[in-house]
Amino acid sequence: MTPGMRHPLIALALLLLTACAEKTHPPQVYKYTFFSMGTQIDLSLFDVDPARSEQIATAIERDFTALNTAWNPWGNGDLGQLNTALKKNQPATVNQALQELIENARILARDSDGLFNPGVGGLVTLWGFNEAATQMPSGPPPTQAALDVWLKRHDSLANLKIQNLTLSGHKPGLILDFGGYAKGYAVDKAIQHLTDLGVKNAIVNAGGDLRAIGSKGGRPWMIGIRDPRGPGMLAALPVRDGEAVFTSGDYERFYEYQGHRYHHIFDPRTGYPTQETASVTVVYNAGAKADASATALMVAGPQHWQSTAKRLGVRQIMLVATDGTVYITSALQTRIQFEKSPAKLIVGDVDAH
Ligand code: AMP
Ligand code: MG
Repeated sequence: MTPGMRHPLIALALLLLTACAEKTHPPQVYKYTFFSMGTQIDLSLFDVDPARSEQIATAIERDFTALNTAWNPWGNGDLGQLNTALKKNQPATVNQALQELIENARILARDSDGLFNPGVGGLVTLWGFNEAATQMPSGPPPTQAALDVWLKRHDSLANLKIQNLTLSGHKPGLILDFGGYAKGYAVDKAIQHLTDLGVKNAIVNAGGDLRAIGSKGGRPWMIGIRDPRGPGMLAALPVRDGEAVFTSGDYERFYEYQGHRYHHIFDPRTGYPTQETASVTVVYNAGAKADASATALMVAGPQHWQSTAKRLGVRQIMLVATDGTVYITSALQTRIQFEKSPAKLIVGDVDAH
């Protein structure tokens, strides 16, 4: 066949393919991106009428914008105003939504034995990681005397009572910060809203922390779990209907001072950033609990993550220690696909503890 004769055949094949595609209208993934909660939010909808997709996506963006303002501990929204009232020792009141946020956090704080502690706002401020700071702090770390003041106050939700939307029982100086689980909570709200709007297949991905519903045309949504110490992904994971995947890490917000890494997740028992864990990933069927658990397990560390996970009731966990060892539960190991081989892999189940 001469080259000239190929063209009509190719053209015919293309025509047939196009005609076929037009006839069946294969479902599409609609993607929408915006910034909120300090990160990029990627929304993917599968098989939703294109005309509706944009409307749905902007509704979800509006939700995030509202929650981001309401739950910023340092701003002028609901939580910011509450923290200002607490600081001035004025009567502190909450609305229904904030009460719900606090009460849900209270359960997670209790179940993690206080390792997840939304009373850490004072520590976050001492270390300079409050969002009001326009730049990443550069050190030096706070003095031990300043940390001791925070440690002696035992700031937590434990003493905080809410009656008729009014707070009492807490010690002056408490600063509430729900940054350890607000993103998960917001992702849950987004998934609920999508479901209410009739969307069956979607993924809400907030900078690598996400929750999915349904699938992508019968194939599971595939996501990547970041390598905490290098570029690219450590592993890939097919996500099941309703599952959330949340990762906490010492690489997200940190500074180095005199050769030490100081990051934004604190051990409420010492007042210092956690030391031995680079990242923790939790897979669970709710974003809020996955998010809070990942933060709590960063604090629990390689020695105690299994017992803390058991109390929290989460079973699919991967912890990357700062020495490169990867600890993983068998429930997660059987479905994860490593893209880089861990230096050392230890499979250990939550129920064994
Ligand atoms: P995450 O990335 O979900 O682990 O959240 C980190 C954020 O949670 C920090 O920026 C703080 O605002 C807050 N935080 C830090 N330490 C704790 C802790 N021990 N318990 C709860 N929240 C914390
Ligand atoms: Mg978290």
